[in-house]
Formats: sequence, structure tokens, C-alpha cells
Amino acid sequence: MTNEEVLAKGLAERIGIEGSRVKHTAKDKEKVVIEKPMSDHKVALEIVLDALVDSNHGAIGSMDEINAVGHRVVHGGEKFARSVVIDDEVMKAIEECAELAPLHNPPNIMGIEACKELMPEVPMVAVFDTAFHQTMPESSYIYPLPYELYEKHGIRKYGFHGTSHKYVANRAVEILGDKMEDVNIVTCHLGNGASLAAVKQGKSIDTSMGFTPLEGLAMGTRSGDIDPAIVPFIMEKEDLSLEEVNNLLNKKSGVLGISGVSSDFRDIEEAAEEGKERAKLALDKFNSRVKKYVGAYSALMGGLDVLVFTAGLGENSPETREAICEGLEFMGIKIDKEKNNVRGKETIVSTEDSKVKVLVVPTNEELMIARDTMELVK
Ligand code: ADP
Repeated sequence: MTNEEVLAKGLAERIGIEGSRVKHTAKDKEKVVIEKPMSDHKVALEIVLDALVDSNHGAIGSMDEINAVGHRVVHGGEKFARSVVIDDEVMKAIEECAELAPLHNPPNIMGIEACKELMPEVPMVAVFDTAFHQTMPESSYIYPLPYELYEKHGIRKYGFHGTSHKYVANRAVEILGDKMEDVNIVTCHLGNGASLAAVKQGKSIDTSMGFTPLEGLAMGTRSGDIDPAIVPFIMEKEDLSLEEVNNLLNKKSGVLGISGVSSDFRDIEEAAEEGKERAKLALDKFNSRVKKYVGAYSALMGGLDVLVFTAGLGENSPETREAICEGLEFMGIKIDKEKNNVRGKETIVSTEDSKVKVLVVPTNEELMIARDTMELVK
């Protein structure tokens, strides 16, 4: 952490199903793929730790060199507005939030438990995806539903991708040499899951994902905003159960649903170039909705100074950035086509005379987690 260097990175895939493997790359060493059955997260972490200390492809001499572990936890509900050292009470709170994120919090808990078992003396820190958005005013997070639903069930906007929005907003201000207190920023995290955040004086005051990650933009497979009356209507017309309609909105909609081609934007861009109309329509829908949120958030903040693009698509698709910014000259947004022709690189892509600075900032959630972890265990 002294120079924030990545010593090793990797990925454990297909835990609990056939073909499980760990990909591992240590600094200045060949990438290795370890194919081994992994019945659960504990087994996976054992393999990860073995890889880290391996004399050939490892990154550290022994397990004693690990002073702390940082965990990304998706849902912290209203309990966590910042990262915390994990103790029994925190574990209980994360478990309580599992109801709000049934797909994400349980595996997060498994990861923490597995690490605790393998490294009982090492402090652990939880970094929440929802924490950054806990600064939203009530007028942003409350839904226009009977207020008791908020009181009884915690139904409100939480927002996600917080670690990423916070990182790219901070990084953009650093690059520009501005002061956070002086600027209004819209951060666009455009990956398979996608969300925008309105960051005023360093604080998230609104974000497009909601009670769950389903709200907001049209995404790879998620619908984002739709008329809620469509839900009971299609349940009746298509004879769908609750689970089936949930699956339709989360897994079969978005740009996949419109294009019928793929959830991967690269495939859709290719199909659009070949003249497939629905692929073009899917991209237009995606871009126009991002544009709408940029406008809405600029209005909410009383102006815009900085627009940041990040994540798979935001970092790697000049076409997407250009399409979103097109027509926003009236707001002072002017893209420099040449500068914008970059992929995965930290850079300013607006013209010199653009009132709003437009930046590409590759996200780095791992670094944020590592920084918070070090800060808390120091
Ligand atoms: P997540 O973490 O939500 O799975 P990512 O941030 O990895 O998503 O983004 C994945 C998306 O980014 C994919 O839909 C992919 O098509 C898109 N993407 C990645 N590289 C490119 C590229 N060069 N051009 C267009 N889209 C890209």
C-alpha cells in the first residue's frame, strides 16, 4: 500500500458448478489458470491464498504478510454510510441486509466467513456499494408510495456502484486540479449493470439505481425505468409468476430484450453496423436514457461542471460517449472527437473551450477497498 502497487490479481469462477477455476497473475509473472473443483467459497479462497504464497507464481512470502482483508459488500442498507471493521455486530447487520440483496449479500457473507476461518487473527473490513449514496436527501431517496412501506420494509432508493462513483469523482477532480466543494459532477458507470450519480460538492445527492439495481438506465439485461403498471399487465397477459416476471425484467430486458442479439454492447454495436434495426434501436434507447439522466441531474444540482465516464462501456466505447454528449452543446458540453478516440485510459475528452469538462476515468474499486481497509486497521 505504500505505493499502491498491484502485487497480484485474479478471479475465482464457477464456484459450486462444473469447470471451476482460479485465474491468477502476480506482478512480473506469467498468468496461471488453476483448474480445480471448488465446492464453495471457502475452498475457492484456500486456492486463492495458496496461489498468493506459491513459490513459483505467488506474490508474497507467507500468509503472515497479509495484515488485513477488505471485502466488497453490496448492500449496507441504511446502517452503513461508510466502511467498517467487521465484528459480530456488523456481521449481523450485513445478514439483516440480505433480504434487500438476496443475490449478493449471502455470497459476500460466505466470503467473509471463509476468510475468517482461514485467517482468524487478521482484521477484516467491509466496504459497501450503497454507502456513498447515503448522503442523498430524503426527497431523492423516498418513493411516492405510502410512507409506511418505507417505515415497515425499508422501501427507498439505496443506489449501487457507490465505490466506483466515489472513486471516479475524486479522481476527476484530482486530474482537473479542482476543489471538490466547487464542482457539480455527473458520474456515468456504464457496464453491464449501469448507473449515474449526481455528485454535488463531493456528496451523492441522487443516483439512478434504486431499491434494487433494476431502476434507472436500460442495461445489458435489466429494463431500468418502466411504467410499473406494465408488471401486473404482463403477468396477466403472459401468465407469469412473480419469479418469472422478476427474471424477465432483470435477465431478459434492457438492450438484450430490445435487440434480440446479445447483452454485450460489442455484439450489439457490430449488429447495428451490419444494419440490424433493433440493435440500433437498443443503442439509441440506452444512449438517450443516459442523456436524459445527465440533463435531470444537472438540473437537480443547479448546473454541471464535470461529466465522467467509467466501466466497460464508458471506458471503452468512444461511440457511446459521443452519442450521449451529442446535442448537449447547449449545456456547455463539447466533445473533442480525436481526444475521445481512446479506450481504457484516464483522459480529458472535451474540447479546450468546453464549459463542462468531460473525462474518461477507468474505475478502480479494488484500490478504494484497499485504501479504506488500510485506513481502518491502521
Ligand atoms: P459489469 O462489471 O457490470 O459486468 P463491465 O463494466 O465489465 O460490466 O462492462 C461490460 C460491458 O462493457 C459489456 O457489455 C461490454 O460489451 C462493454 N464493453 C467492453 N469493452 C467494450 C468495447 N471496446 N466497446 C464497446 N463495449 C465494450
